[in-house]
Amino acid sequence: MMIPRSIKSTRGLKCFNTQAIKYLSLNSTTTSYPKSHKVEKYITPSFINNEFFKSKSTTWYDIHDPATNEVISEVPQSTAEELDEAIESAHKAFDEWKNVSIIRRQGIAFKFVELLKANWDRLAAMIVLEQGKTFPDAKGDVLRGLQVAEASCNITNDMMGSVLEVATDMETKMIREPLGVVASICPFNFPAMVPLWSIPLILVTGNTAVIKPSERVPGAAMIICELLKEAGVPAGVLNIVHGKHDTVNKLIEDPRIKALTFVGGDKAGKYIYEKGTALGKRVQSNMGAKNHLIVLPDADKKQFINAVNGAAFGAAGQRCMAISVLVTVGKTKEWVKEIVEDAKKLRVGSGFDESSDLGPLVNPSSLAKAEEIIEDSIKQGAEVLLDGRNPSLEAPYDKGNFLFPTVINGVKPGMRCYDEEIFAPVLSIVNVDTFDEAISLVNSNRYGNGVALFTTSGNQSQKFVKNIACGQVGVNVPIPVPLPMFSFTGNKGSFLGDLNFYGKAGITFLTQPKTITTLWRTDEFEYVTPSTSMPVQH
Ligand code: NAD
Repeated sequence: MMIPRSIKSTRGLKCFNTQAIKYLSLNSTTTSYPKSHKVEKYITPSFINNEFFKSKSTTWYDIHDPATNEVISEVPQSTAEELDEAIESAHKAFDEWKNVSIIRRQGIAFKFVELLKANWDRLAAMIVLEQGKTFPDAKGDVLRGLQVAEASCNITNDMMGSVLEVATDMETKMIREPLGVVASICPFNFPAMVPLWSIPLILVTGNTAVIKPSERVPGAAMIICELLKEAGVPAGVLNIVHGKHDTVNKLIEDPRIKALTFVGGDKAGKYIYEKGTALGKRVQSNMGAKNHLIVLPDADKKQFINAVNGAAFGAAGQRCMAISVLVTVGKTKEWVKEIVEDAKKLRVGSGFDESSDLGPLVNPSSLAKAEEIIEDSIKQGAEVLLDGRNPSLEAPYDKGNFLFPTVINGVKPGMRCYDEEIFAPVLSIVNVDTFDEAISLVNSNRYGNGVALFTTSGNQSQKFVKNIACGQVGVNVPIPVPLPMFSFTGNKGSFLGDLNFYGKAGITFLTQPKTITTLWRTDEFEYVTPSTSMPVQH
């Protein structure tokens, strides 16, 4: 496909500007995409009714490369008119799209999967540039979304209803129908995976979509959108708007939007859930986390140390399933020294540099918050065994938001580094004497996204699985995120809603059941007095 270098609106809508603009996110190709931090500044387009265009907004936010803090792009606060256009476009497209055969929708999903694979590196490069991840980690970000897109190709089975002859010649069948327009509000830390958690399933189930990517990292979502258009998604079915609170408020309040799917922090998640459900909408809200890893003295030490460092420091700790708390039981507190030695070997730097193990934090305020919490942990009596603050890096990375792996020991509930989600490469270590104490510590935490146990004992593992109050549990697996044949099942303070993301729960969230009962008699109808009472035969 020819990638448009400048795009002219053909819709003639008032809000569209027809001037030629450079869109780097779309100008890149499967073979030609950024491979370094030196890029020409680009503008992030919006997408309504199958057209990319430059917003007419007068409010634009800078997008910084987190490795250098250079401004690389601008993203608009979509205007009120554009937001309305996007919702109306999705609303109008719904009637036709819901009646498009499921085989055709499935065909588009297959084509989309092919395109995602072909554009894998291109998407990863955009993530490195805007979000800061290392290139291999960014490829993993795309893969986890790609797997949801692949699972969406099974929609012909997943949408299957049920039918039963409930009385002679009388059948009841249950089918699942789409809801209408679904809005998806995404966070910064998985620029491809999180939009892909929702978009493929919204579309194959026959819903239409209005997506709001994170204003910090919209580039990957724009490429995904281009690929869906190329895969054959008709005009209006998918729309992308941008911005902050004003955009989110419009998506919550507009009656044409029937469901909201949100991933992000606690404050926004609670707000969207409470306001959305009060307006009668379906809402699923994945929020913050504090994931513990418990290590027992019988664990395989090498396997454990390798796993804990990868899970705590990968993606610079900016994963909702990152291990941020290590709970050492009994003598395993003596292993902390080796964790620190191993963590020191991790290389921090540009995501484009093949030797980097982790990149920068997303912005200066995330870095400042992490540094402040580390400082507070010292004041509150913990011991910083490895201090990643003030790293020395050469220009231009000396201006980036880098924090090297940090290990804090002697942590207790009540300290900021334990109570707050830091979202940085900071591992807090709590020492306890017994396994029971460890389980009760985890169960008292307000979050319930993920937890892991390292042990070689089947009995202890069984006890853990049965008693731990977290939604995603790993045994010798540090980041137990289920593949999309299951669902993402965070609980307690990490999730609000009844139906989780993707898998069977995801399809149920995006559809509503309808039952149809029919009577087609096979015998001749003989007149009897109409019955006015409820049936008594069973
Ligand atoms: P965030 O809450 O700041 O932003 C998420 C989205 O909500 C963005 O699109 C943003 O524009 C919007 N938003 C932010 N504040 C808002 C407000 N007050 N009102 C309305 N909308 C608002 O989150 P983030 O910093 O982009 O992402 C990091 C957070 O996401 C972490 O807390 C992390 O744990 C969480 N997260 C959770 C999961 C999960 O599955 N549980 C997955 C990824 C990220």
